[in-house]
Amino acid sequence: MTKKSANLALISNKTFEATKVVNINHYDISSALQTTLEFNKLIANFSQKIESLVSHNAYVYTNPEFGLEIKNGVVTKHACSYALKIDNQQLGELKLMRHQKFAVADLELLETLLCCLIYPLKNATLYHQALKMAHTDPLTQTKNRAAFDDDINREISLAMRHSRSLSMIFLDIDEFKYINDQHGHECGDVALSSIAKWIKECLRAGDSVYRFGGEEFVILLSETDLVGAEVVAERIRSAIEDHILAYNMQPIHITASLGVGELRANDTADRLVKRTDDAMYKAKKSGRNQVVVAI
Ligand code: GH3
Ligand code: MG
Ligand code: MG
Repeated sequence: MTKKSANLALISNKTFEATKVVNINHYDISSALQTTLEFNKLIANFSQKIESLVSHNAYVYTNPEFGLEIKNGVVTKHACSYALKIDNQQLGELKLMRHQKFAVADLELLETLLCCLIYPLKNATLYHQALKMAHTDPLTQTKNRAAFDDDINREISLAMRHSRSLSMIFLDIDEFKYINDQHGHECGDVALSSIAKWIKECLRAGDSVYRFGGEEFVILLSETDLVGAEVVAERIRSAIEDHILAYNMQPIHITASLGVGELRANDTADRLVKRTDDAMYKAKKSGRNQVVVAI
């Protein structure tokens, strides 16, 4: 079992002035940490720069806000870990490990060196929070159209490079205008966020759902072929049909029409979207509340 030498929280009791002095004394570490806003590079740089001062065999950095667990090296017996925080901003937890016990002097030096990491880590956190907000639809908390435009080409390149399948589901809520007209726009908003939740409940962790437009969602299923995607689409369709939304004591029944498409050799993002969207329109024309597979 890993032995913990220390479990301290580095909080904002270091004043900015004190941090500045530490940063000047370890200028090369501070400047190396200012070259990136990526957590993995930041932690790797920090580990490399302090190695000659506080030797260690491995590190683990965890940050629940961004679902991060960045590891390097081989887990060893002795460990020290720091919950990093400044101005009420959680910055994750850093754990260093090595064969020999960390002496008090090592820990004191490490705590001083961690001051160089705090501000770059805060900048990385603010940057990733802003990025997350820019890519999130505020109503449904799904990814938005900008995120889709960013992700689709990367997903296609990955699928083609590794000869893996990639499928897409296009979903449009049926007669949604009627829900707004009948029960009010606020009810329509509640319906949209509920549907987003029901869709997510039908997906695996690696799948992504995007609000593509007003009452349209797109789902990207990596490593999933057409047959698998049709199963998922049918599961989503029946989940939406089976849930009854209670709004102002009134039961509201909702259905959706879905199109399913799979990435083909020499496909482009536009062609895949068009094929999947066309399949969804066929589902509409064939009476709604159904799944149509693009052939
Ligand atoms: P169909 O079955 O053919 O898809 O019919 P529909 O009524 O769903 O389609 P239509 O495109 O006529 O209407 C879409 C409606 O979605 C109209 C628009 O006001 C509504 N809508 C789009 N975005 C939002 C939103 O953010 N909140 C609410 N409440 N309604 C929205
Ligand atoms: Mg629509
Ligand atoms: Mg619709």
